[in-house]
Amino acid sequence: MIDKVRYAIIADIHANLAAFTAVLDDIEHRGGVEEVWCLGDVVGYGPEPSECIQLLRQTNHICIAGNHDWAATGKIDMSDFNADAAAACQWTGQQLTAEDVDYLSNLPLTIEKDDFTLAHGSPREPIWEYLVSTEAAKENFDYFKSRFCLVGHSHQPLVFAYNESGMCSVSLFPSDDELLLGEGRLIINPGGVGQPRDGDPRASYVVYDSESRKVTLYRVPYDIGTTQAKMMAYGLPTRLVARLTYGM
Ligand code: ZN
Repeated sequence: MIDKVRYAIIADIHANLAAFTAVLDDIEHRGGVEEVWCLGDVVGYGPEPSECIQLLRQTNHICIAGNHDWAATGKIDMSDFNADAAAACQWTGQQLTAEDVDYLSNLPLTIEKDDFTLAHGSPREPIWEYLVSTEAAKENFDYFKSRFCLVGHSHQPLVFAYNESGMCSVSLFPSDDELLLGEGRLIINPGGVGQPRDGDPRASYVVYDSESRKVTLYRVPYDIGTTQAKMMAYGLPTRLVARLTYGM
């Protein structure tokens, strides 16, 4: 019997409750999913870290650790963060409950599920490596055994493909585009929920349908002003507030 199951793949919520709520509403509107796969960075940058953790934990989900999740709990240090990210991270750490800290610090680095390996940055260096070049992606295909890998961290919806002759290509994953999973190995980034960086400010996520073997990317408008007003009220860095307008 074939399992007819749909999964939502989300990344980089970054404490943006308005964006996260809009994505969960969109998932429901499209018929719902069996499980949400979250690729890390639930917190950091945004104004509602604890609320986002709680909402995620109310959904049937699996989640791996992102650099912001562990930095906010003190599990890794912030020396690689820029000044704005470090300031937001410090603020985030002060908002977390003991239960939040427990949840974040116990997130695994990677998860293997069906044909997929989940890693926040890359399978080679799950916490820190940004996969934005074909050179780095090509090397990373040696670091996971499953056919497909799912990553976040760059906040850009990208698909890296590896072909038989050892070449690696990359393409943008456009909104409403359907990607049919075949024999070829891929690394897929669903884009960012809470702080998109591809020039489109709408929240980004994908749905994987295990029956049709299709991955579809959706962009969801949300009330950016609500998130920005909260960030201003909490004194979070203005550059982080402004970038949400542009999705950069
Ligand atoms: Zn991130």
